[in-house]
Amino acid sequence: MNQLTRSYNGVARLDLKPAPTEIDVFRRCAVADRPFFSRYVLNRGAWDYAGPVLPTWETLLLYQKGQRHVLSWRDLGQERCPVCGIIGSPLECNVCGVVVCGGRSTAALFRCRPSCPSSGPVTDRGFTNHGITL
Ligand SMILES: [Zn+2]
Ligand SMILES: [Zn+2]
Repeated sequence: MNQLTRSYNGVARLDLKPAPTEIDVFRRCAVADRPFFSRYVLNRGAWDYAGPVLPTWETLLLYQKGQRHVLSWRDLGQERCPVCGIIGSPLECNVCGVVVCGGRSTAALFRCRPSCPSSGPVTDRGFTNHGITL
């Protein structure tokens, strides 16, 4: 082990950090305008939705500090909002850029959170899911 440490400098060892197997992507409840995370876990090469996670000040700080682990929209499942309880696909607002739960939307009509005036037809397009790993 010591030989290995001597063989590589600190920069090389940073590259040995394992790839994340768990990503918490950022969401906001469209009803209460409160943040939460949706957890995805790596399962045999695919990302599975594992459930909602309530934020702590530490995880919100991590997110605000710019941790940007990206999950493709293709990996998204039906998510449950832990604030209003709705189950469905998350929606990205094209005005404020936040991904919200569908608590104020129908299958055809999108409505963002109370602090954002955006509403309109739901369109089927991919979006980037930014998250953190712990
Ligand atoms: Zn909600
Ligand atoms: Zn919005």
